[in-house]
Amino acid sequence: MLAALELDGNPASIHRAGRAARQMLEQARSAIAARAGADAADLVFCSGGTEANAWAVAGLSPGRRVLIGATEHDAIRAAAPGAEILPVHGDGGADLDALEHILRAGPPALVCLMLANNETGVLHPVAAAAALCRAHGARLHVDAVQGFGRMIVDRAALGADTLAVSAHKMGGPKGVGALVLAPGLHLPPLIAGGGQERGRRGGTPPLPAIAGFAAAAALEYPGELAALRDRLEQSAVQLGAIVCGGGPETPRLANTTCLALPGVRAETQVIALDLAGIAVSAGSACSSGRVTESHVLAAMGLGALAGCAIRVSLPWNAQGEDIDAFLAAYAAMARRLAA
Ligand code: PLP
Repeated sequence: MLAALELDGNPASIHRAGRAARQMLEQARSAIAARAGADAADLVFCSGGTEANAWAVAGLSPGRRVLIGATEHDAIRAAAPGAEILPVHGDGGADLDALEHILRAGPPALVCLMLANNETGVLHPVAAAAALCRAHGARLHVDAVQGFGRMIVDRAALGADTLAVSAHKMGGPKGVGALVLAPGLHLPPLIAGGGQERGRRGGTPPLPAIAGFAAAAALEYPGELAALRDRLEQSAVQLGAIVCGGGPETPRLANTTCLALPGVRAETQVIALDLAGIAVSAGSACSSGRVTESHVLAAMGLGALAGCAIRVSLPWNAQGEDIDAFLAAYAAMARRLAA
């Protein structure tokens, strides 16, 4: 990112300084696209996951029927107001029988199904959903923001027409992301302007942020997190917590867990843990500043727990001592506040 700040050329300029910036931009594009199993030409930079989702929904379903998963992020819910809702099972995974039923009855133009849920870490059966969508002529958009960088993501293997990714969820800077398109798919731009990104997204690309995105995309996948998370969950359960992320068989991200402590408001837990130096969120951090009941937990039939559930995310470099520190703070809190 520092090297990018040194480059004062605009990547669209044809002079030497512009060409140097362009070279860095295209190297970053190739590195990030490779991480998504895509060609560089099919990756369009934008301001983040919210914009990438909004563009995909607007571009793939103008004025037509949209079906979205019940646990989608608010960025999708806001981009597709009035969309039909695809139910999830109690473990949080999309109900494929319901999907098939809806598609048979009359396919929507577009189905949106996230790769990994941002509150519970639960993975959806995206490739199987994509096969159903293809068989019935519906497009599939996948919000891969939560999973990108934490698991192998391959647009073609997932069968997605479009894939939204964002830098900050994988350790990169905030305010930059991308939409990955199936080869040959053309979407009218959501933000038109000076013809940047081959006419697909107007605006001078933020080179330092994009360089940081590429640096994050070059990091190794986190290794031992699942074992640390399991230990954290098992100890938290002994202290009275309920894990809101399906059962042991449920496929999910290694770094995300959602813990409910019955009878203790989520905000109270966030404050108590913050005072002990532990940063967790209540529901979706993206809507922080307002703690609302989680539509994700409600869709999983855990509505009664929604008000007392926190999301715990392990950083990519979490160590055993971090889990010990969390559990010490959690135990003190549970003893003091849980009935
Ligand atoms: N989709 C998911 C699953 C998210 O967790 C988030 C939040 O970070 C977004 C979309 C929005 O992405 P961004 O904050 O980059 O706009």
